[in-house]
Amino acid sequence: MRTLDYMERYDYEQVVFCSDNGVGLKAIIAIHDTTLGPALGGCRMWPYESEDEAIMDALRLARAMTYKASAAGLNLGGGKAVVIGDPAKDKSEGLFRSLGRFVESLGGRYITTEDVGTTVGDMQWVRTETAHVTGLPLSEGSSGDPSPSTALGVYSVMKSCALEVFGSESLKGRKVAIQGLGKVGYHLAKLLHDEGSTLIAADISKAAAQRVKKEFGATLVKPNMIYDAECDIFSPCALGGIINSQTIPRLRCRMVAGGANNQLLEERHGDELQQKGILYAPDYIINAGGLINLSAELTGWYDAEAASARVAEIYFTMERVISLAKSKGISTAKAADRLAEERIEEAKRVKKIYL
Ligand code: NAD
Repeated sequence: MRTLDYMERYDYEQVVFCSDNGVGLKAIIAIHDTTLGPALGGCRMWPYESEDEAIMDALRLARAMTYKASAAGLNLGGGKAVVIGDPAKDKSEGLFRSLGRFVESLGGRYITTEDVGTTVGDMQWVRTETAHVTGLPLSEGSSGDPSPSTALGVYSVMKSCALEVFGSESLKGRKVAIQGLGKVGYHLAKLLHDEGSTLIAADISKAAAQRVKKEFGATLVKPNMIYDAECDIFSPCALGGIINSQTIPRLRCRMVAGGANNQLLEERHGDELQQKGILYAPDYIINAGGLINLSAELTGWYDAEAASARVAEIYFTMERVISLAKSKGISTAKAADRLAEERIEEAKRVKKIYL
């Protein structure tokens, strides 16, 4: 589909193409919706094979950020930047300063932060050109790495789902199968281990897997066997698209609750989980902890304790999703979309009345 047609179909506000030959910058900034507030979303650096692939990634990711912020009750919109390039070879101060000038030119409509392929250090370069950047180092009074907050949010939502499925929010003695033991998966494994859960885990990185086995006594399985693990909770914390027609029949769990983005390969797979009696914690609800933490930084000086308390409140967002899904007879994935869309529609109505 052509970019403008896609924008019209899914209600995008703006797409900015950025080019700076002097520093080799080719980037796209997509702003999906700013009804609730400025669009916040990370800057991804990736060696995209085509311009179309980069545009589509920016568009999809920006829209997902709108839903994530809205459902989390944040006064933020959805946006994303993608830089076309190899993060291992093509980074420079000039490139990120140039990107910073493009972000600045948007006058605060878009706030950037780190994402796949970019780091806190890159954002410090962006910061030299614009104040519209977040996720800076802890030493600068900022929020630092969002992963522990993301893991805390996942853990809180697991409890909310456990109350629904098992009648108790305690995760003690529950068997949790974690796919991906990187930044989010590792911190989640620690929280679960501390509560007394039994861990089954898989990662394509032997080092990451061995660390979780050694520190938390996890039973390791081969990466392609994690779907077959008999467990209470399956927790995808690696890649997107892993809930699909091939994997759903293999799942032997009562709920899917993990931090990975875009877990459902297609929308219908949310319904298929429901039909199988598996409670699905929608990805952008359960993994909003990092965004909530970042948003706390925007209020001025970052307060870690207050931010953590706010992250743990995702527990109640999940409760609302479950209750809406039950009352309307729809899947939790659809209920989450309704929750996010209703808040934006309401804000649009109020703006029309008062402006
Ligand atoms: P990460 O790169 O630190 O960790 C991902 C881990 O998954 C790595 O250890 C990798 O080896 C492993 N992995 C990759 N393919 C795998 C496979 N097929 N089987 C098993 N393991 C595999 O990334 P992260 O920051 O922990 O993010 C994990 C997921 O959570 C991603 O989908 C990310 O988009 C999402 N997410 C992260 C955050 C955050 O705060 N970091 C916030 C929201 C969403």
